[in-house]
Amino acid sequence: MGESAQTVRTICPYCGVGCGVEVATAGDSVIVRGDKSHPANLGRLCSKGAALPDTLSLDGRLLHPEVGGERVDWDTALDKVAGGIAGVIARHGPEAVAFYVSGQLLTEDYYVANKLMKGFLGSANIDTNSRLCMSSAVAGHQRALGADCVPGCYEDLELADLVVITGSNLAWCHPVIYQRIARAKRERPDMKVIVVDPRRTATCDIADLHLPLAPGSDVLLFNGLLNYLRRTDALDWSFLEEHTSGFAQALQSARDCAGSIPAVADGCGLPEQSVAEFFHWFARTQKTVTLFSQGVNQSSSGVDKVNAIINCHLATGRIGRPGMGPFSMTGQPNAMGGREVGGLANQLAAHRAFDDAAALERVAGFWRAADMARKPGLKAVDLFEAVADGRIRAVWIMATNPAVSLPDADRVREALRVCELVIVSDCERDTDTTACADILLPAAAWGEKEGTVTNSERRISRQRAFRDAPGEARPDWWIVSEVARRLGHTEAFGYESAAEIFREHAALSGLLNGGADRTGHDFDISALASISDEEYAALQPVQWPVTAARGKGVRGTARLFGDGRFPSASGKARFVAVRPRPPVHLPEGGFPLVLNTGRVRDHWHTLTRTGKAARLSVHTVEPYVEMHPADAAARGLDEAMIAEVRSHWGCMRARVKITSGQREGSVFVPMHWSDRFAARARVDALVNPVTDPVSGQPESKHTPVEVSRWQAAWYGFVLTREPLPWDIKDDADYRVRARADGAWRYEIAGSEAFDDPALRARALIGRGLSEDDKDEWVEYHDAAQGRYRAAHLHGGRLEACVFIESRPQLPAREWLLALFAEQSLDESSRMALLSGRPPGGQGDAGRIICSCFGVGLNTLREAIANEGLTTPEAIGAALRAGTNCGSCIPELKTLIAECKDQNAA
Ligand code: SF4
Repeated sequence: MGESAQTVRTICPYCGVGCGVEVATAGDSVIVRGDKSHPANLGRLCSKGAALPDTLSLDGRLLHPEVGGERVDWDTALDKVAGGIAGVIARHGPEAVAFYVSGQLLTEDYYVANKLMKGFLGSANIDTNSRLCMSSAVAGHQRALGADCVPGCYEDLELADLVVITGSNLAWCHPVIYQRIARAKRERPDMKVIVVDPRRTATCDIADLHLPLAPGSDVLLFNGLLNYLRRTDALDWSFLEEHTSGFAQALQSARDCAGSIPAVADGCGLPEQSVAEFFHWFARTQKTVTLFSQGVNQSSSGVDKVNAIINCHLATGRIGRPGMGPFSMTGQPNAMGGREVGGLANQLAAHRAFDDAAALERVAGFWRAADMARKPGLKAVDLFEAVADGRIRAVWIMATNPAVSLPDADRVREALRVCELVIVSDCERDTDTTACADILLPAAAWGEKEGTVTNSERRISRQRAFRDAPGEARPDWWIVSEVARRLGHTEAFGYESAAEIFREHAALSGLLNGGADRTGHDFDISALASISDEEYAALQPVQWPVTAARGKGVRGTARLFGDGRFPSASGKARFVAVRPRPPVHLPEGGFPLVLNTGRVRDHWHTLTRTGKAARLSVHTVEPYVEMHPADAAARGLDEAMIAEVRSHWGCMRARVKITSGQREGSVFVPMHWSDRFAARARVDALVNPVTDPVSGQPESKHTPVEVSRWQAAWYGFVLTREPLPWDIKDDADYRVRARADGAWRYEIAGSEAFDDPALRARALIGRGLSEDDKDEWVEYHDAAQGRYRAAHLHGGRLEACVFIESRPQLPAREWLLALFAEQSLDESSRMALLSGRPPGGQGDAGRIICSCFGVGLNTLREAIANEGLTTPEAIGAALRAGTNCGSCIPELKTLIAECKDQNAA
């Protein structure tokens, strides 16, 4: 990068770790590095963060406003939005309008959307996709601590002597935090890590103990722990008596259901020895952090699970001090910022609730609200139910894709199709949700707008622009403000900048959370209410509260509640008496397996961004259903077959992946694939829409399903330089599309046999390819084996190839994909082309494990075996794998262990 390079400090837009990123730009070149000065990551990035430049392409961007599928100017689109909302309110009242927003929005966007809905449209029907990932943690915090506050910080995870990771595949979902813990454990080998998860995931790589508990048995386990702490006299009685209430009731509940280690082990499906060991370690280790995430939250009893965990920390007084406390990891980059402004339908603003009459009046007065909402609105699942039954007539969706991500997603899509007015603000033109929109509004994306986000440790960081927004894309706060002005609220929404909105948000936080009883213990950033534009531009990462007493020049407040003062009415924390409630099952049978959903290592949400990056698409190319060997065998399923997964609500297809790391009776399917990337692969179409009665969070980890073989008559793949013209979501066949380096990869299968494979292959790849005298079509057909292979070359350059087999075992795609980089194939490559294997015994790299350096499975296995590599460091020295982002290190360790086992056998 040349002299004229500019460097901007900003924040990774993916997960709730909130890593600082340095972006250096010069012309079209963009280089991303971890920001060494950012306290969240100290220079580290995971594979997703490291690949951010690969996701900046304008391919598929929504660049202009559209109404009814036609491009219009901004004035026309904004008039239509305002007129549509006003019309629906006039005819059906304010409750007929809803906003569905997102943890991808910046805090300033969120603030303005919340203000418009709750202060000026007269309804609180604004909810966020953060409802799906952490609303149980919010409610659990409120019940126990008096406010939605994460007590500790990331540093506590390194200072702890015991880290209990429960309901989180941290290694894949929050990799930089995983790496911080892994490093701390390397430096202090006595530090213990326990993983509580039905699956044996990559996170177990650093676990001293893995508890593969039965799905849904978390409350029983932590109640058992509370009871054990009492029996073994491991309680902090002075903390209990001075700073908490409700212990006796909570303990009684625990005793009633989890009276002994054998009872807990039996109910959780765990060996007694493992349960005893966990309890013993927890009881004797003062510096303990319990980190929890979606595996706890996404449940019809998620809030009780959160409280069962917090109860154990309150009982031992281990909260808010270095190296100890319950710690909620949020899924999205700004889930916390959304919580702070009141982006959840049951929150008002700045962590205050609707049942706080004084706060309600203060907010109304502060906003000079024209029509203040007086009661909570509908939570996400209920909100879309109201769209489906016509109570909501106009819905504005911002920066999220509910047609893919909400439970019972087919019904959500149907609801959007029949809704009177669907407005979608997004960066992308074609998503499953934009397909349902009447009005599309182009939003500015990461790198194009200014604002703030808050990560899982309450740290507010600046997201900064490093390039101009393309086309007519605008920041979300600008779009919402323009609509508000057209609705007549000119003065209240006269914002000129994100800084102005931030100052107002900060001032409101002080108004609602200041005062002797609350100062310093809840969301209060009033010390930032008077910062100048320049100070906002230069704002350093800061952990709230940031009050006048603490000063705005420091880095805020690392820990809360260490002094035993809590932001509840009594000033004390509350134990919550909880009992195990089994996941909600349907009375009907036929669905004997439990479906668990989650993320893969290199993808984010519905692939709208990571799906653009070839290096993020190679690690996991297809949707898969991960099964225990016994469950697969009982259903006649082999590795790599296509399976149909069905629930009461819907069905999908996915590749079978068999592993003993999966608990028998449970299956796992990743959440990412949409109609844009695959046919019938939206797992949320299957997910039970039942929710937690307190938080409204859906039960995304526990849907009864059955898995059966999809009768494929043939399997295949197409590799092609240009995207194929056919509709990927045509669900007669199995179809998945993925970006590759300089090419596209399609995994395909069909249920109907065909007579002429050449005709079929040409139908698959022939259209859209030029046909002149430079074209060459080479093929190989073995009818007896059901094998057909063909390649299309143009002027000696590979344009496409198609491989079809009667079995799912096909050649590896990596070498073939590498041929697309060649301008002309040499003779040996041409000869080898249809074998799918490199010529002359050259190695085939195999499935990519290290995305950063493109190191494949076969290369790694060979090097480990032949060069005697026994550590990830040795692999890194030999092949560079694992030396950049480190996200593949757990897989490298698994390969080393496999090789060791083979040698021992
Ligand atoms: Fe981004 Fe990875 Fe950091 Fe999460 S852990 S914020 S995805 S770089």
